[in-house]
Amino acid sequence: MSTREGGPEHARAITKLQALVRIPTVSHRDPAAVDTAQFDEFLVELRKQFPRLHAETELTRVGTHGLLFRWSGADDSRPVVLMAHLDVVPVDEDAPWQHPPFDATLVDGAIWGRGTLDDKGSLVGIAEAVEVLLERGFTPAQDVWLSFGCDEEVSGTAAPEAVAHLRAAGVRPWFVLDEGGAVAHEAFPGVAAPIGVIGVTEKGTTSIELRVEGRGGHASTPARMGPTARLARAILRLERAPMPARTPDATVELLRRMAPHASVALRPLMANAGRLRPVLTRALVAAGPESAAMTRTTFAITTLSGSPALNVIASTAKAGVNIRVMVGDTVAGVLDHVRRAISDDDVHIDVVEQNEPSPVSPMDDAFALLEETIGELFPDAFAAPYVMMAATDSRHFTEICERVYRFAPFRMTKAQRESIHSYDEHLDVEAFLDGVAWYQLLIERIPR
Ligand SMILES: [Zn+2]
Repeated sequence: MSTREGGPEHARAITKLQALVRIPTVSHRDPAAVDTAQFDEFLVELRKQFPRLHAETELTRVGTHGLLFRWSGADDSRPVVLMAHLDVVPVDEDAPWQHPPFDATLVDGAIWGRGTLDDKGSLVGIAEAVEVLLERGFTPAQDVWLSFGCDEEVSGTAAPEAVAHLRAAGVRPWFVLDEGGAVAHEAFPGVAAPIGVIGVTEKGTTSIELRVEGRGGHASTPARMGPTARLARAILRLERAPMPARTPDATVELLRRMAPHASVALRPLMANAGRLRPVLTRALVAAGPESAAMTRTTFAITTLSGSPALNVIASTAKAGVNIRVMVGDTVAGVLDHVRRAISDDDVHIDVVEQNEPSPVSPMDDAFALLEETIGELFPDAFAAPYVMMAATDSRHFTEICERVYRFAPFRMTKAQRESIHSYDEHLDVEAFLDGVAWYQLLIERIPR
């Protein structure tokens, strides 16, 4: 069902998204592996597509190719930051894409390609909303900052640099909006209405390496409990000792808001989620790894290394553990748990990276603004908070802002959400245009 007339302004927004998806801005952890010419070209194309945005705002370059725009409002006491990132994850050459990942093919009412959902749809949506408002001579009630990162997918430095710039300029945002949630269709079995899920916090990503050193030597004379066996025992001990599960407040609120839309069987449990927390937690843990991850800090054994040869005993055996720290837990507490679970002083724990979970953003005036505008643009949907499992650049902004929300105003099916970082990523044209309209409405509604 079309909700608007297909005027030239709309065709224009689609062409812009296509042009920017066609530039493969793939980021890599190793700076030498980055094709910087693509990033240069992206910035040139962005300037070409959004002339007013570039002419009428103040632009600061952050990191290698990150951009921070300041659009002056009538007041600057409660500024707003809208975020997106221009880099994308690489494409697996063997993945069965229906349409080439960097062609931005327009077919079946959708734009297909890497980055359409993550996160060029948001980037172009925000830029186009600002461009249209500038053309109309609109001045926002408060300063609006656009922070477009260039290395989000590799946890790069552009976002922290943007934060440092804002901090130095004495900017204390009223709220920050970044990617994360969406207008999620098929979000929960038995709940037909789409949910405008707004991330109010995110788990902290922490990585450790378990390391066991030993004598190694010839495989013909093995000793008991060599480094590899000791490491294997440690891995199994950790696997058998999950962190305690609990249901955080944001999840309780999500369920309470879903209750009126849920099947009759589920409704009482959801409506009383607060009181039934222990029952609920057990149900979430039992329902599978995805819902279990909503309730606790998780450990995933990822990398493994030992002997380089079949007839050599390893002198060092190592295992990488990727940890997602739940809201309410701390990195120190989790490391304590790991030490106790393994209870073997010969297993060394090296911390590779550590990030605490983000503070929980309040559900006050700024959240209400998001909720109200979501209700207007997506009348069949309802807004609700949730705990994000993945990390976003916005975590850095929690240092200068209490209200950090993670939401992209695009309708997405389950298949679309699963296509992110995978294949067949595509954004429906109607959904994209609704998103542009939502960003516009949000900016127009920023109060004095
Ligand atoms: Zn992203």
